[in-house]
Amino acid sequence: MNEHEYTGHLHIHSTYSDGSATVPEIAADAAKAGLDFITITDHNTLEGLDRGLEGWHEGVLVLFGTEINLRKNHYIAFGVRNTVPQNEEDPQQVIDAVNGLGGFGYLAHPVEKGNPAFLQGRFYPWDKWDAVRYTGLEIWNFGSLWRYAYRSKLQAFFWYFVDPYRGARYPDPRGLAIWDSLSSERPLVAFAGSDAHGIKLRFGPFKLKIFPYDFLFRTLNTHILLEEKLHTGVERAREQVFGALRTGRFFIGSDYLGRTRGFRFTAVSNENRASMGQEISLSPSAGLRVVSPSRWGLIRIFKNGRLLHESRRQEIYYNVTEPGTYRVEVHRRTLLGKLLPWIYSNPIYIR
Ligand SMILES: [Zn+2]
Ligand SMILES: [Zn+2]
Repeated sequence: MNEHEYTGHLHIHSTYSDGSATVPEIAADAAKAGLDFITITDHNTLEGLDRGLEGWHEGVLVLFGTEINLRKNHYIAFGVRNTVPQNEEDPQQVIDAVNGLGGFGYLAHPVEKGNPAFLQGRFYPWDKWDAVRYTGLEIWNFGSLWRYAYRSKLQAFFWYFVDPYRGARYPDPRGLAIWDSLSSERPLVAFAGSDAHGIKLRFGPFKLKIFPYDFLFRTLNTHILLEEKLHTGVERAREQVFGALRTGRFFIGSDYLGRTRGFRFTAVSNENRASMGQEISLSPSAGLRVVSPSRWGLIRIFKNGRLLHESRRQEIYYNVTEPGTYRVEVHRRTLLGKLLPWIYSNPIYIR
């Protein structure tokens, strides 16, 4: 089983909605951050795609999705050439319309909470948990978490200059719990992103840019694994990237804490192997193999959301005796000795 790894960033807004930079400018920032691909997901539009901007910019593959709905129930759709009508009250209509066009998608910042210090307390959660037929959910959204982390703007900006990552360093446990509970029943892909807007603030004559794109492109990245190298042809390359996103053949890596490239999680059973997002049947020889990219990591294996095993080794093999949904987290020790979430794998389903 070949595994070519490519690093990308998923949830990004450009000037085609409320972002502050153009698509080529964003692609240049992605190149600076060393990314292989990005997906631009503007609100209720695919204008970048319509204008022919899909393709390679400075060595970065730029693809387009769209974030549908405004007041609540934000849904990020990929693999569609046209937008679908918004429906905030009945987002199942949106999910089904996207699927009908051959696309797929995920619930954006579904457990977002409001904070009176930002956006006048407005927030945009998902409130239709009986929805079905969506591919996954965003378990870690940088912007959403950061806005909720501080009691006042002053506190937020103080910490922004001391440690900009601090407010978003833990995914919301409620989102993880929902993902664990739903994915024990059916395959469900975990996504992450920064919700990058390249925010520009104005204080009288002073302008301040907070969370520039190239900073966020070093945070919550998506590492896809492909059987073959990424094609130079855009059509094929798009199929490869979207194929990995649709099936969950990727992990989320917070590259801000240290490069996550090289993390691997596979399952073996009899003569078969499974990668993230795949199913494999249980046998007496079944086991999981995890490789951490650093010896500063703590590997945690979960089954149906329950912690099964922990190890400080860099590479482990764990025997599996029961069917279930298995996933891995790696936490990394900072210089001050604190353990922070670093990597979230997508699950392997052992049946
Ligand atoms: Zn949103
Ligand atoms: Zn967004």
